[in-house]
Amino acid sequence: MSSAVAAESSQTSSSSHCPACGKAATDSSRAWRLVNARGEAEWLQCNECCSYFMDREYALHSEVSHTQQMTWGDADEGAALNQFKRRMYRSVIGTLQKHLGDVHGKRMLDIGCAYGGFMAAAVEAGLEVEGYDIVPEAVEHVRSQGLRAECCASVNEFSLSKEPFDVVTVLDANIYWPDQPGELQEIFQRIRPGGLLVMRVVDKSWLARIGGLLQSVSPQRGNQVLRRALNDHRFSMPLGSFLRVVKQSGFDVISATPRGAIHSDQTSLAVKLSFGLGAALWHSLGIFMAPGAVVVARRPAQ
Ligand SMILES: [Zn+2]
Repeated sequence: MSSAVAAESSQTSSSSHCPACGKAATDSSRAWRLVNARGEAEWLQCNECCSYFMDREYALHSEVSHTQQMTWGDADEGAALNQFKRRMYRSVIGTLQKHLGDVHGKRMLDIGCAYGGFMAAAVEAGLEVEGYDIVPEAVEHVRSQGLRAECCASVNEFSLSKEPFDVVTVLDANIYWPDQPGELQEIFQRIRPGGLLVMRVVDKSWLARIGGLLQSVSPQRGNQVLRRALNDHRFSMPLGSFLRVVKQSGFDVISATPRGAIHSDQTSLAVKLSFGLGAALWHSLGIFMAPGAVVVARRPAQ
C-alpha cells in the first residue's frame, strides 16, 4: 500500500456534508463498503440528491498525493493523457464557438487544468487562457509551456487575475471537490454576466446502483462494477441532481448531453456505444445511462 493511500486510510473522521449538494451527511444512508484506489472506505447515499459519496473528510494534502499517483497527476502520463483526450477537447472548443461566436481574445479559466491539454487547445483556437490545479508539478509543466497557471485548490484562491472571465471550464474535475455548491457559487462570481460555464461531468451513478445491488449477490462482481463506476472519484452524482445544483447556483442551463463527452477516438467501442445509446435514451426519455455528459450553463446577463 502506498504512503498516500495509507495516510488517507488512517483518517477516521467522517463527512459532515454531501459534497455533491451540500446537504448535511446526517441526511444520508449507508450504501456500501468498498476498496478502491483510495483504500477502503464506507460510502453513503445522500437522501437529498441521491449521490453516492465517500464517507471521509476532505484533506487537501492527501488529495494532492493521491492525484500525483494517478495517471493524470504523473508528469509523463499526464502529458500523454493530453493527447488521449484531444477528441473531447476539440468538441468542447466547438461548443464554445457555438455559444460565444468568435472566441478570439475571449478570456477563459480552466479549473483542474492538470497538464494543460485543454488550455493548449483553447490557445490554439484563439482564447486567452489561465488555469489552476492542485498538483504543483502539473502547474509547473503548464507554465513551462508559456501558459498562465497557479497552484491552488479553489476558485476563491485563484489570484492570477481578478477580471471576470468570459468562460470557465471544468473538465472531469468536479468529482474531486469537497463542496460542489460552494465552488459553483464562487465560480458564478468569477464569470461576467452573460458568460459561460462549460463542464464535462461523469455520471455513472446508475452503474454504481447496479454494483451495489450485485454486491449482495456476488460481492466480487459487485465490487468490480462499483470500482468501474466510481473510479477514484469522491462522489457519484445523477445528472438531473447536478443540473439542479447548477441552477441553484444562479446559472441558466443551456444544454446537457452525452454527445461530445467521449474522451478519445481510441475509447473502446463498448464505451462509445454506451455514449451513443445513453444519448438516445437521455434525449428521448430523460433517463441518464451514459458514462458522462457535457453541460453548458450561462450566467444570466442581468
Ligand atoms: Zn446530496
